Amino acid sequence: MKKEKISIVVPCYNEEESLKYFYDEITKVSKEMDDLDFEYLFVNDGSSDKTLDELRSLSKKDKRVRYISFSRNFGKESAMYAGLVESTGDYVAIMDADLQDPPSMLSKMYKYIKEEGYDSVGTRRVTRKGEPPIRSFFARMFYKIINKMSKVEMVDGARDYRLMTRQMVNAIIDLKEYNRYSKGLFSFVGFNTKWLEYENVERVAGETKWSFWKLFIYALDGITAFSTVPLAISSIIGIIFCLISMIMIFVIIIKTLIFGDPVSGWPSMMCVIFLVSGIQLFCIGILGQYLSKTYLETKKRPIYIVKETEKDNK
Ligand code: UDP
Ligand code: MG
Repeated sequence: MKKEKISIVVPCYNEEESLKYFYDEITKVSKEMDDLDFEYLFVNDGSSDKTLDELRSLSKKDKRVRYISFSRNFGKESAMYAGLVESTGDYVAIMDADLQDPPSMLSKMYKYIKEEGYDSVGTRRVTRKGEPPIRSFFARMFYKIINKMSKVEMVDGARDYRLMTRQMVNAIIDLKEYNRYSKGLFSFVGFNTKWLEYENVERVAGETKWSFWKLFIYALDGITAFSTVPLAISSIIGIIFCLISMIMIFVIIIKTLIFGDPVSGWPSMMCVIFLVSGIQLFCIGILGQYLSKTYLETKKRPIYIVKETEKDNK
């Protein structure tokens, strides 16, 4: 019988130092899981270091190594999408290059799919050891907020590390949106997912590419991509302010009729003007967020552009 194939998709952005550790580790795992054929699909996301050279030499050495190299940095979301599109395996796993997603968990993940009939096995870290406390705090807040706002469930601490069947991968490839937020997309397509928990592992080499600001923007992307509640909130604020102003108009008319109209109340008027115009700008801002996403979607720009693959390296 023909062996089934598993594709390991690895987004890499400036990972020249981690790659050799990763390759050794995944090769070890592939020896243990010898009932499967392996394909390692590295996606070089416009690295400015020697990542691409490293990938070229790996693919010369080992024919299981494939790579796609982007024309510039498109972000991890694009890299994961490209990996899924180009993968050929019956099963596909997405894994970070820095060994923060332990490859040794793969055989356990595979068992859940093969023996217990799950379509996908996701991982979540239960600790955030080695992470700045302020970042953990905001991350927790984000999950609380987005789960209240969105019908699609987002699991706190979920990593992008997961193993999926071809059927589920195809469902994800069919979601061709430009503003990608994978944690939401995985949950959106449904299927049965088993969650495995593990303790946070620190990266083996190099450093994280996520600054606090980048994560903050990513969180906003997540909210706008999977919830329209902010739009509803701004309409509700608008309605509340209309009601308040109607009451105020009524009170002021009565007061003027009874007491006349001496010029006073300038400070309170200024306060009201500042408050209301602030809220207006805030609501227009929310509207702008959705409009800008719609604008980018309608352009239908490609999610990634490939400059080189292992086929060019023969
Ligand atoms: N990554 C990528 N493109 C980017 C940023 C990151 O392909 O623009 C890859 C990176 O090489 C790594 C993975 O995404 O394999 C996770 O990145 P990182 O370790 O910096 O994130 P963290 O683990 O700190 O969340
Ligand atoms: Mg990492």
